[in-house]
Amino acid sequence: MISVYIHIPFCVKRCAYCDFITYVGMNKYLMEYAHAVASEISIVGNCNDGKMTIGTVFFGGGTPSLLPAEGYAIIFEALQGNFEFSEDPEISIEANPGTVIKSELSKLVNLGVNRLSLGVQSLNSSDLVKLGRIHDVYDVLSSMRVAHQVGLHNINLDLIFGLPWQTLDAWKNTLEQALVLEPEHLSLYCLTIEPETRLAYWIGRGVFPSQDDDLAADMYIYAMERLESAGYQHYEISNWAKNGQYEARHNLQYWLNQPYLGFGAGAHSSMYHYRTENVPMIKPYIQAMNETSSVSDNFPNSPANKERIFIDHYTEMQETMMVGLRLVELGVSNAAFQNRFNKNICDVFNNEILEVAALGLVEWVSKDIDQRLRLTKKGRLLGNRVFMQFVGN
Ligand code: SF4
Repeated sequence: MISVYIHIPFCVKRCAYCDFITYVGMNKYLMEYAHAVASEISIVGNCNDGKMTIGTVFFGGGTPSLLPAEGYAIIFEALQGNFEFSEDPEISIEANPGTVIKSELSKLVNLGVNRLSLGVQSLNSSDLVKLGRIHDVYDVLSSMRVAHQVGLHNINLDLIFGLPWQTLDAWKNTLEQALVLEPEHLSLYCLTIEPETRLAYWIGRGVFPSQDDDLAADMYIYAMERLESAGYQHYEISNWAKNGQYEARHNLQYWLNQPYLGFGAGAHSSMYHYRTENVPMIKPYIQAMNETSSVSDNFPNSPANKERIFIDHYTEMQETMMVGLRLVELGVSNAAFQNRFNKNICDVFNNEILEVAALGLVEWVSKDIDQRLRLTKKGRLLGNRVFMQFVGN
């Protein structure tokens, strides 16, 4: 069972903190882009022996809600023609609350979309203005209502904390308002100030203060306690699922270091010990697909690849530890590790584990006859320190 990620790198306006692969003012290429993605799916799908089964699809961006439903129909047709779908696939789309249109969303549900991830970021109007978002708080409420009306009942809200100007009370208020909306899933990310963004420039010029790491840690600790009391299970460092259901199956595929195919500009694939990365820009991507009619014979090679690297056995073990430790409840199963690599975790990483265990950042827990290594509560706050232990800088 594989997962498929499809990148839709179009946005109305670049947000002040954003350095993602996305472009503004390119909407006239949206349909051409959808055709190019469909071609890539056909070329890559065709070169594998036999059809693979897709368990999850995630349309991410960018702002996928900018692509008209006709574009999605073309992409779905290519997926259905070149892959099998599991009986109960999870099919998610990311949407910016400022771009949710009921008639379009309804068509996507008819095509098979069954999960919506809304880029809410904050429920404080002034935060949204400073972040340069195109939506306001009202758009969030209206998007939730529209989503329910068209039959979507598996909804994630993305929120950002650690904003340079944000107080703990303001964060608590955003979280409370989010809980009133009763989403099935919440993703909470600490803001990273990326260089080359407007926000970094403003901080550099003293328009906003620098981030306060201790305050951001307090916000995270508060969120862990509040969401637990509200019935959300903290299953991954940044993710909570209502009543322990509604975990993001697509992302679990990444965290379990399982195979996925990525289509579109800048998309990555990880399959058969290779990781590939596509050209990031829209026009070169479309051009690469238009110029190719031949079938790639080196799965999962795509004509749009700009890089293809071999993942050796040891790197795969390192990466399995790094992504698996993000699963804060489950951690990394020694039995699954042994099954996959024919070695115990300690045979490979004994010294690394001893060092972070001595700092109180990881712990072994027993489950049935299995042993699992996972982050401690303290380790959840210092996850990057632990991940570095397994993969270096
Ligand atoms: S909507 Fe998302 S991808 Fe687009 S500019 Fe804003 S943060 Fe970046």
